Amino acid sequence: MYHELLSDASFWAFLFKIDRKLADESRAKGCSCGGRLHAANYLRKPRGPRALPKEHRYRLSFCCDRDGCRKRVTPPSVRFLGRKIYLGAVVVLVAAMRQGPTPRRVDELTKLFKVDRKTIYRWREFWNEHFPQTTFWKVARARLVPVFKVVDFPRSLLEAFVRTPDDRNGWGNLLEFLSPISTTKGLEIKVSDDREKPAEDGDRRP
Ligand SMILES: [Zn+2]
Repeated sequence: MYHELLSDASFWAFLFKIDRKLADESRAKGCSCGGRLHAANYLRKPRGPRALPKEHRYRLSFCCDRDGCRKRVTPPSVRFLGRKIYLGAVVVLVAAMRQGPTPRRVDELTKLFKVDRKTIYRWREFWNEHFPQTTFWKVARARLVPVFKVVDFPRSLLEAFVRTPDDRNGWGNLLEFLSPISTTKGLEIKVSDDREKPAEDGDRRP
């Protein structure tokens, strides 16, 4: 099953390595003011199927070293999804397991992942309502939609990237693909008046 990989310590070490790579890339770019970035990681208390060792609980982040700027720069992450307290892979997997031809029951998932029903419903709302509206997805879909069919978020994404239950590279690619939405800016919804009006509620789903 897909969730077994998420209980594997080496999976989280693997994701941490990707986060370090993403952080190095951000650091190399420096601050938009031209200043240098210094490490200013902060500790989070992520929830997930297993407790992460302390060194993996840090959100990698930087601070500009120039007086008058001192801007915080937080690179994208494959472990943390925005401010969500649960690890990103859990937010993807639990929501995906509620979808498809044989959806798992909410009761089952609350036990398996130690997540309450309300949170599961909130995630559903996030994937159904919020995610498709993000600028990130509006750009990404042009690249992905010709390659695979989107039926449900996030299940369609999971199936497109992760081929087998222990496909950690697939997970790495999926979470890296989603990593722009792991920063607050990436989750913004750009409101523009030149788009057609959104479909009526009843039209959204078959
Ligand atoms: Zn700066």
